[in-house]
Amino acid sequence: MSIAVYPGSFDPVTLGHYDIIQRTSKVMDRVIIGVLNNQAKKPLFSVEERVEMLKNVTADLPNVEVQCFDGLTIEFARRNHAQVVIRGLRAVTDFEYELQLAQTNRVIAPEIDTMFLTTSLKYSYLSSSIVKEIASWGGEISEFLHPYVEERVLQKYSEMKKVRR
Ligand code: ADP
Repeated sequence: MSIAVYPGSFDPVTLGHYDIIQRTSKVMDRVIIGVLNNQAKKPLFSVEERVEMLKNVTADLPNVEVQCFDGLTIEFARRNHAQVVIRGLRAVTDFEYELQLAQTNRVIAPEIDTMFLTTSLKYSYLSSSIVKEIASWGGEISEFLHPYVEERVLQKYSEMKKVRR
């Protein structure tokens, strides 16, 4: 059985992430999305919220599941008996960091390979941080997110405004 893990922050999951998940689900038997519980990144959404949003948007993909993890991606992959770690590549700016990560991981865990999917052209500019930046200024974000996630982002910023008042 071919098993892939797709690790990331997913703060929140964008249509760019979804595109990678959907394409991976077509070529692998199982796809396990790993939501990194990394407080150092000061996420907008808690890990539970990020997992819940991902479960909602991937509900139509039967071979995809969502888990949270902390620590090394490679350990997460091993625990799940995955042969492959999936990463998405948008632009050359992603490349250097991703190459370093993949090569280091290969030294630590030679039995697990990293596979890159290049972004679909229409999402090549898209990142969770850009979406948050736009949303924080009240801009339109429906082009970038699943409607359920859009709703959650708008809700989050309106809650934050209330707290600040
Ligand atoms: P991380 O903090 O690990 O970079 P992200 O949630 O930002 O977590 O991204 C997870 C993975 O998804 C990374 O491999 C990233 O390159 C990829 N990714 C993010 N946005 C896109 C996109 N628009 N198209 C393709 N891949 C993407």
